[in-house]
Amino acid sequence: MTSSTEFLIVGGGIVALTLAKELIAQGADRIVILEKENELGMHASGRNSGVLHAGIYYPPETLKAQLCLKGNLMLQAYCREKNLPLGNVGKVIVTRNEKELPMLENLYHRAIQNGAKVDLIDEAQLAKIEPNAKTCQKALYSHYTAIVNNRMILESLQQDLKQTGKVDIQFNTAFIKPKDSYTAETTRGEIRFKKLINAAGAYADKVAHSFDTAKSYYLIPFKGIYKKLTKEQSHLVNGNIYPVPDLRNPFLGVHFTRNLQGDVYIGPTAIPAFGRENYGKLQGIEPEAAKIISRQIAMFFTNAKFRSVALEEPKKYLFSYFFNDAKKLVKELKKEWIIPTGKVGIRPQLIDIKQKELLMDFLVLKENHVLHILNAISPAFTSSMAFANYVVKQYLTN
Ligand SMILES: Cc1cc2nc3c(=O)[nH]c(=O)nc-3n(C[C@H](O)[C@H](O)[C@H](O)COP(=O)(O)OP(=O)(O)OC[C@H]3O[C@@H](n4cnc5c(N)ncnc54)[C@H](O)[C@@H]3O)c2cc1C
Repeated sequence: MTSSTEFLIVGGGIVALTLAKELIAQGADRIVILEKENELGMHASGRNSGVLHAGIYYPPETLKAQLCLKGNLMLQAYCREKNLPLGNVGKVIVTRNEKELPMLENLYHRAIQNGAKVDLIDEAQLAKIEPNAKTCQKALYSHYTAIVNNRMILESLQQDLKQTGKVDIQFNTAFIKPKDSYTAETTRGEIRFKKLINAAGAYADKVAHSFDTAKSYYLIPFKGIYKKLTKEQSHLVNGNIYPVPDLRNPFLGVHFTRNLQGDVYIGPTAIPAFGRENYGKLQGIEPEAAKIISRQIAMFFTNAKFRSVALEEPKKYLFSYFFNDAKKLVKELKKEWIIPTGKVGIRPQLIDIKQKELLMDFLVLKENHVLHILNAISPAFTSSMAFANYVVKQYLTN
């Protein structure tokens, strides 16, 4: 039997849930969300660092700059309203050598332009905030960076949506392809829709391709592995310690993050992976792996940004490289204080295979009554509520 809905959303991550919430707030009456897994948070939204970023890194004209801080404040307000754990711990960005000082100054000015609350601090001020953090002369302190429990936020949003009586999250149900312009084929039958939103995270490119659109865009998966400090040493980090990033590439570098349970995670790496869900060494290697690798090779030879990530990051599989990277951010760290964890996430990065470019901003493509959210990379969790508000206003109200 074919069911029908006003909005059909593919994917049940943070992007989908906040979009559904915003659509209901704007008067939508019936939404079906398709999630291929049997619960929420199995992929990026449930596997991230849980850091609410604060609008520091992004060029002012980008969607990331416009939506990150706004989203941060909205999610903080949401956590307070719902009594969800929230840690207003701030974050320091430290320099590893004198050469990084001009970039730190750039970040400071960019952050101010984006409305972020940041201070350039000296070593003595840094020692008061993070006694174990190491920097060369100056560091940046971000006031609004916060930590949250991402899975609890997903559950709370699920609860909100359920309470409206207008949203049906269908688990274990994967979108396969459009049957015609207004009918989707899923693993559990057909669904008719008036509008469809593709929020399929790491599979958003494939869903878009099934509509014969965005054909030059592909998502390349990067694996992020985390380690952590032993319990005895976790007092060494109070909040978040990040390096000055290489802004030419999309990742922020291995950092220290103290979560709400007091565990201090170190990571994530950004190693090219062999599948969009290749969380283990072999687990999640896709039949499509050969194509993914050939796209990685094509990008390696034609794009300097990609080449620098591909040359630098895989080294961090080796513990000594990972350790050396982490050690540059703190005064005291011993190899035996770092232990492995099962925490691993995949960051899908959008490339334009024709232009041989990595796309650095969120991308929204609309074709008639179908909307594709591509490249919902970090800080998409932080930005999600503001992003949903933007997308609904810009693309879905008429
Ligand atoms: C290691 C790591 C660290 C990060 N750190 C941060 C951070 O600290 N702060 C921050 O703001 N952001 C961070 N991010 C980024 C952030 O987690 C993502 O940008 C965000 O979660 C993306 O949300 P999403 O809803 O697009 O994707 P997802 O959470 O991946 O959701 C997409 C969903 O779609 C489902 N799906 C896919 N295909 C189909 C289909 N065909 N049919 C049905 N369902 C389908 C999947 O099962 C999945 O549940 C991090 C990401 C990673 C991986």
